[in-house]
Amino acid sequence: MDPKPIYDGHIHIFPGYWQQRIYAWFKRAGWSVRNPDRMEEEIWQDAKTSGVSAASILIYAHRPNIARELNRWLYEWSQGRPELHLYGTVHPDDPDLESIAREALDRFQFAGFKIHCNVQKVRPDDPRLDPLYRLVQERKRSLVVHVGTEPHQNSFVGVDFFRRLMEKYPELRVQVAHLGAAEIDDFVALLPRYPHLYLDTAAIPGTRLWVPQEKLEDIIACHPDRIIYGSDLPIVEEALEVHRARVMSACKTEAVVAQVFHQNVMRLWQGD
Ligand SMILES: [Zn+2]
Repeated sequence: MDPKPIYDGHIHIFPGYWQQRIYAWFKRAGWSVRNPDRMEEEIWQDAKTSGVSAASILIYAHRPNIARELNRWLYEWSQGRPELHLYGTVHPDDPDLESIAREALDRFQFAGFKIHCNVQKVRPDDPRLDPLYRLVQERKRSLVVHVGTEPHQNSFVGVDFFRRLMEKYPELRVQVAHLGAAEIDDFVALLPRYPHLYLDTAAIPGTRLWVPQEKLEDIIACHPDRIIYGSDLPIVEEALEVHRARVMSACKTEAVVAQVFHQNVMRLWQGD
């Protein structure tokens, strides 16, 4: 099946200093990241070499008072690359959260924001994020949210908190990372209720986040318009092509390949 073009809905790019710290964190946690030396240019180059021609680029602030700087860095780095759709960051403790969000959306024209509930220690329904959600919903931009209990369960992640977010903002455009693992069934069950809710395949099924191939096939067959291919580059333990082939083989027709590998993520980018 020719899936062209291939868009990757989940790539992380950080400035070099932070990227090195992230690699060191995963190494300490026992991950064998495949190429733990790649910096921003090389990461995007690796994706392109593998056949990706457009992508969502995600960044997140693990502490307050760095989000504005990270967003500006990402904006600068992406200049001249219209194929990159940027998801910036705010930290819930940023005193100027709303102004950071406005700068990212209105001045930098970011596609939206990444919220990493696990790393940022914030529940998705935390009222401190309300100004962000209102702006994103108004402007028909989107969020990529890591709210699943894998790979670390804590008191910030889980489908229960996520349900409360969607009840409050039912029109919000949201891409849940890693199919919402480990509560995949519960996240899938929300799809029919919310027209702009998507799940991505970042690193799944993979070495850390395994789901049986038949289950992935079922999910895609039932919701072909809501699943977005993503790699999780550069935090990958397998070759990109190996993971991608697994996702692709779970798509049973060429039309579904096109949905999962570019059409669905394009709807988010276009605010459709
Ligand atoms: Zn990720």
